[in-house]
Amino acid sequence: MENKDVNLLWEAVVVDLMPMISTVSYQVWFSNVKPLKFYNNKLVLSVKLHTNKKQLDNTYRDMIVKCIRKNSDYIDDFIVVLEDEEKEITESPAPLAAEVKAEAPAEKFESTRFKSSFTFDNFVVGDSNQLVYAAAKTVAEEPGKRYNPLFIYGGVGLGKTHIMHAIGNFIAAAKPELRVRYAAAETFTNDFIESIRTNKDSGLNKLFRDNYRNVDVLMLDDIQSIAGKPGTQEALFHTFNYLVENEKQIVFSSDRHPSLLNNIEDRLISRFASGITVDISPPGLETRIAIVQRKAYSRRFHISQECMYYIAEKIDTNIRELEGALNKVVFYCEMNKVAADSVDVIREALRDEIEEGGRALNYEDIIAACATYFGVKSDDITGSRRSKQIVSARQMAIYLIYDILGLPLAEIGTYIGGRDHTTIGYTRDKMDKLRREDPIVERQIQDIRAKLGKA
Ligand code: ADP
Ligand code: MG
Repeated sequence: MENKDVNLLWEAVVVDLMPMISTVSYQVWFSNVKPLKFYNNKLVLSVKLHTNKKQLDNTYRDMIVKCIRKNSDYIDDFIVVLEDEEKEITESPAPLAAEVKAEAPAEKFESTRFKSSFTFDNFVVGDSNQLVYAAAKTVAEEPGKRYNPLFIYGGVGLGKTHIMHAIGNFIAAAKPELRVRYAAAETFTNDFIESIRTNKDSGLNKLFRDNYRNVDVLMLDDIQSIAGKPGTQEALFHTFNYLVENEKQIVFSSDRHPSLLNNIEDRLISRFASGITVDISPPGLETRIAIVQRKAYSRRFHISQECMYYIAEKIDTNIRELEGALNKVVFYCEMNKVAADSVDVIREALRDEIEEGGRALNYEDIIAACATYFGVKSDDITGSRRSKQIVSARQMAIYLIYDILGLPLAEIGTYIGGRDHTTIGYTRDKMDKLRREDPIVERQIQDIRAKLGKA
């Protein structure tokens, strides 16, 4: 179907709508609507403002659908996306992988290949992750039956991806006939965007469906990344309903509890939390020791008990860093042909990691942490775009740089893309007030401070 048809259909719809609404309503809500594409038997419309989208989605939904159906046998619904997202669609830098896939549509379903070392057996269980382990095991044994969806949340490097792969590996061995799809939520977004961009009959929509609907188990990692992407959320919402209705298992991971996800539609948040929600927290000392022990053993690396304790004690952030530290020790010992049998050796090998006090935090760390938290890029914070998500991240970064580093307003302004010191002062005051009035903002501040080690 061609672009021309998109415009024609929308014109016909508008002609039918006109008599039903006032001129003012037309001016305000319809004159800026741009018809974009067809997607899954839907007409995709783009608007500039969130309010506009809401009006079309709610107040005018029935009317529009009626007029669409009247004018097309084929298209029976519509989706509204924000212009920001449309830009994503046209500027999206990396849908290459999806394009390659489009040329070679899978003839038969291929489950995701899982990382062979990310198994349940290799997952050290302690207080911090035993709930996640138990829930994941149950899901792997009886997908779609007990906990659906399984929603796993926790900070970076704590084992979320590992446990999802463990589910995949387990099912691949126990029930190889099941179709299991694992994807980073970002891949889901890219595939979705690509499926809108490509015309309906090119096969990619089918591919999108095959990938995400025609499955027995769907796992989406780091789901927080769909924040502020209404089109993706809409696609996920329908995918979710379809799968759950058909008793297919869904597993999500996220860096935070569903209730703290910003800029994700309420109806999705409530779906996220409709099964079981389990958190994975940083491991305590005992678990850290067990992990070092396990990893050293699996690499057949000899290390004294004292040394293991020392590493586990010093590296208390997350498991990825703990692994990284052990790797460094192994490397150091091999290069220098020394044994890991004295704390001095470890101290030398990990000099950068365990330097007293560590490297001081700087404004870039804070910007990066805020960007990650709000699902935007550091460049967005220092840039000029004003999507809701970016503005939230920017205001938070300004506030935290002030709060943590105590720099002069003018200096903060130069770090945030050369903004004026009055803007910075205004933002700081606003955030100061907000955090006292809005518990969610306070919680966000605490979350990000914790990630920066400034709780
Ligand atoms: P996340 O997805 O939460 O950021 P990952 O799953 O990527 O974290 O885990 C980071 C690293 O730590 C991986 O190499 C993983 O194998 C390891 N890891 C995490 N949790 C455990 C655990 N309980 N036992 C053993 N290794 C773990
Ligand atoms: Mg991960």
